[in-house]
Amino acid sequence: MKIVHTIAEVRSAVAAARDAGQRIGLVPTMGALHAGHLSLVEAARTACDFVVVSIFVNPTQFGPDEDLDTYPQTLDADAEACRQMGVDVIFAPAANEMYAAGFETFVEVDHLAETMCGSSRPGHFRGVCTVVCKLLNIVRPGAAFFGRKDYQQAAILRRMVEDLNINVEIVVCPIVREPDGLAMSSRNVNLSASQRAEAVKLSQALFAARDAVTAGQTDADAIRRQIADALETIADSRIDYVAVVNPDTLADLDQIDGPVLMAVAVFVGEVRLIDNVLVKRSSA
Ligand code: AMP
Repeated sequence: MKIVHTIAEVRSAVAAARDAGQRIGLVPTMGALHAGHLSLVEAARTACDFVVVSIFVNPTQFGPDEDLDTYPQTLDADAEACRQMGVDVIFAPAANEMYAAGFETFVEVDHLAETMCGSSRPGHFRGVCTVVCKLLNIVRPGAAFFGRKDYQQAAILRRMVEDLNINVEIVVCPIVREPDGLAMSSRNVNLSASQRAEAVKLSQALFAARDAVTAGQTDADAIRRQIADALETIADSRIDYVAVVNPDTLADLDQIDGPVLMAVAVFVGEVRLIDNVLVKRSSA
């Protein structure tokens, strides 16, 4: 496995594989890899011949008051995990490699980025789309792998590649959870033991909401209230949003009479956690 830091190096490593007719898979990450990330690597390994994992804590997707400075960085452990998973190349650029002096071009998706994480993190998806667009241009993979944990991100990136005619298959993989249900996240290491114990209530709230929908609840507001009531019991926390939306458009639902995405963002202490459940069919 190679670890490279420059665009020129990753391009040349991938070019050899592409020239040999291999299918290239890209797994974009911000590092501090956990089993959620590794499930994407596994999916890439299965579907592709040559796997590139990018590790880049992308400054343009963090707001001025967000946790860029405390975002965990564990490159040595990440490299070891990737090596064991059979990754071919890690691309770990410095910020000034991705954003050279004079950089001023950004990619924005409109409506899909205006709700949920987009409304509470202005500019976040602009940063995400820009960096992913750059990574796709640099690596030119046949497929790129993302997690459903960041449901809105995946929806926006699908839109971006379609709208900009980027020739890549976007593969979205299921959420990997801790045994108690907490969605795995690099940020979980920043939770204290007591916050970690409380954080399980995000997934519990969503699973209970899924059960209510499956049992026939069709009133979206009732589901929002149910989720919010459950989240409000988390000590030292603040709800960022509770969304009950159409999974394709991310528009708020009044009535749940088909597929529904229920998604939440909650600050537990200073740590912002997100989670979601998708119910493809309701009993309605
Ligand atoms: P991040 O490093 O947080 O930017 O995440 C990189 C990729 O891993 C994104 O596509 C995430 O959606 C995905 N990911 C993060 N956590 C999980 C998880 N628990 N299960 C599945 N995918 C995940």
